[in-house]
Amino acid sequence: VPELPEVETVRRGLNQFTLQQEILRGDVLLDRTIASPTSAIEFLTGLKGSKIIQWHRRGKYLLAALGKGAAGQANNGASEQNNLHPSSFILHPSPPGGWLGVHLRMTGQLLWLDCNTPLQKHARVRLFFPGNLELRYVDQRTFGRMWWVPPGQAPESVVTGLQKMGPEPFSDEFSVEYLVEKLRDRRRPIKTALLDQELVAGVGNIYADESLFLSRINPETLCSQLSREQIDRLRLALIQVLNSSIAVGGTTFSTFLNVHGVNGNYRGEALVYARAGEACQVCATPIQRLKLAGRSAHFCPQCQV
Ligand SMILES: [Zn+2]
Repeated sequence: VPELPEVETVRRGLNQFTLQQEILRGDVLLDRTIASPTSAIEFLTGLKGSKIIQWHRRGKYLLAALGKGAAGQANNGASEQNNLHPSSFILHPSPPGGWLGVHLRMTGQLLWLDCNTPLQKHARVRLFFPGNLELRYVDQRTFGRMWWVPPGQAPESVVTGLQKMGPEPFSDEFSVEYLVEKLRDRRRPIKTALLDQELVAGVGNIYADESLFLSRINPETLCSQLSREQIDRLRLALIQVLNSSIAVGGTTFSTFLNVHGVNGNYRGEALVYARAGEACQVCATPIQRLKLAGRSAHFCPQCQV
């Protein structure tokens, strides 16, 4: 399942290959992939003739600012700067072509390829660009969604999942003060809280388990019982584990594919995630697995108290 580092890797790939390219036409192979507008035809009509100015990320959402004609050139200078730091989410105030939103959910992939590449069984949406190039959306489980946000509308008014999203982990807003305030009165396990996109954007099961291990906090610990020192340790561990995964292209822990359909460097480096029964790399105690709010948590009962 793509989490923040994987989505960030896709964003960087898209910014590398698709900028200033005009969407000539498209093809929706599975209607329910399009969350808004209500018809696939409206979606494609809205995108047609737009150029991609810049891809942004907010949590696990991808958002492309779209230009029309010469206006597509306007913000070109932002691209390199935007690639420097993963926290960057510089909203273009009102892009002339609106926005293209994508959420990959469980199994979605965005592939940049030659349009003559044989169609995958699970291809759902195709967007065609000059030079026989194509942005193809492939999604086996079909939970992923796409949106076209018309010009003049705020992305969050259409992509409603953005409305209550918490701060990006790399932003100044994600401070120890913020977390202390948010967690103080919460009587739920910290593991469950970390998966809540309203607390922090983009974190899923893998990075929650890994950051709890690194900060030596048991996943069942109630938020309200965490000390300020523990909270800050967790915050820094989360930033560290996300950063190191982004640095290797989001493939540290998963078989995730980049925009070319390639997993360059799967290294299976998780310390606890999906390692139940294996020896803890710190103390050799077998890693345990338990269910919390329907999700599995992996942890070392010796190191994480
Ligand atoms: Zn251990």
